[in-house]
Amino acid sequence: MRLLLVEDDRLLGDSLASQLGKAGFSVDSAGTAREASVLGEQEDYRAVVLDLGLPDGSGLEVLRKWRQKGVHLPVLILTARGDWQDKVNGLKAGADDYLAKPFQTEELIARLYAIVRRSEGRGQALVRIGRFELDENRQSLRLDDGTEHSLTGTEFRLLRCLMSRPGQVFSKEQLMEQLYSLNDNPSDNVIEAYIRRLRKLLGPETISTRRGQGYRFNDTV
Ligand code: CA
Repeated sequence: MRLLLVEDDRLLGDSLASQLGKAGFSVDSAGTAREASVLGEQEDYRAVVLDLGLPDGSGLEVLRKWRQKGVHLPVLILTARGDWQDKVNGLKAGADDYLAKPFQTEELIARLYAIVRRSEGRGQALVRIGRFELDENRQSLRLDDGTEHSLTGTEFRLLRCLMSRPGQVFSKEQLMEQLYSLNDNPSDNVIEAYIRRLRKLLGPETISTRRGQGYRFNDTV
């Protein structure tokens, strides 16, 4: 799941990026309003963490512009503790949730998963399709025979992406974007390698290959 982290405090930003990475997000970081505006419009993120105090402007303005331009991705704003006006203004500008600094990263992650779930029309931390159940909290896959398999970060991100829109064909490029941040340089055949690993768990029919187009998770098996 690709996530944009907008935070100008390098120390906080780096530590958050690494913890969000472990929680199953592939994170792009932006430290300025300008950079955030451009990335939010151009890239396909599933969620944004947006600090309001940025060196070249306010995160609120970034958010307002996105909403005006029809960028509807879920946004969680980071506000100063006790600043209720920031929270109100943020929600009015189109934020989906807020968190006051300082906060526990666990709470940030839980809230992010919640706004992503809501944006996908789900209420639970489980993605259930046919015989398969993906547990976001445990990053594990449960089969209908009761067995549970814990997934590596990349396996989880890939499967979550495919299962979030069953029946839809994802191109290799789209999957790469959801799996890796702009700074990563994965090799060309990495998606194929991970699809092979997932097929061993899910059975060969569950993820099909559309030649020249990409991969899809079949909701009918
Ligand atoms: Ca700041």
